[in-house]
Amino acid sequence: MRSWMKSFLTLRFENVSRLNMTNLVLFGPPGSGKGTQAAFLIEKYNLVHISTGDLFRYEMGNNTPLGLEAKAFMAKGELVPDSITIGMLRNKVEKHPDANGFIFDGFPRTIPQAEALDALLQSMGTEVAGLIALEVDEEEIVGRILKRGQTSGRADDNDEATVRKRIAVYKSETAPVFDYYAKMGKSMNINGLGSIDEIAGRLSDAVDSLL
Ligand code: AMP
Repeated sequence: MRSWMKSFLTLRFENVSRLNMTNLVLFGPPGSGKGTQAAFLIEKYNLVHISTGDLFRYEMGNNTPLGLEAKAFMAKGELVPDSITIGMLRNKVEKHPDANGFIFDGFPRTIPQAEALDALLQSMGTEVAGLIALEVDEEEIVGRILKRGQTSGRADDNDEATVRKRIAVYKSETAPVFDYYAKMGKSMNINGLGSIDEIAGRLSDAVDSLL
């Protein structure tokens, strides 16, 4: 087979397989249980979990330039600038060319991040299948995060003012991402209260409705 023909076919088949990916955005305020539920979903649907919060904490733990840059924003409960966050996310996605799909946890948190994610996935011949938001009221999440702070070792989980700042940032900068995907018919809400198994059951139903 001529080499141009071979590369054309390879490209076609790569695009077909990328279209079969299942890319989910797991959404909700800090402390809504995204990390806990992501662990269950990656197992059940064989997906790659990408948590930008975890990636930043890893970089901080290793005192990398990226980690040092992110640290001040995280300590104040503010978002790390989009330019830094989007680059880090892109690098991570590109490390998994053979993934069945991704669960994005804590990303996108701004409209420019959502637009960058869509462009990245589009360049891979795929897209966001759906955004699933865990609904939990504010007092419940403040209580959950402060409790988690007793063992998580996270400075941003220990101080109530910082926790409330994170929730305020969620409302002003992140909640619009729900509407962004809702306009494409891709957003759904699920009740984030109850036992871990109950919530996992609701999430599975939501994911199955997308497949
Ligand atoms: P999380 O573990 O998702 O609650 O994130 C902890 C902190 O990391 C946030 O309060 C932000 O400072 C930072 N962070 C995580 N993900 C993002 C993101 N997508 N955009 C900007 N900052 C982020």
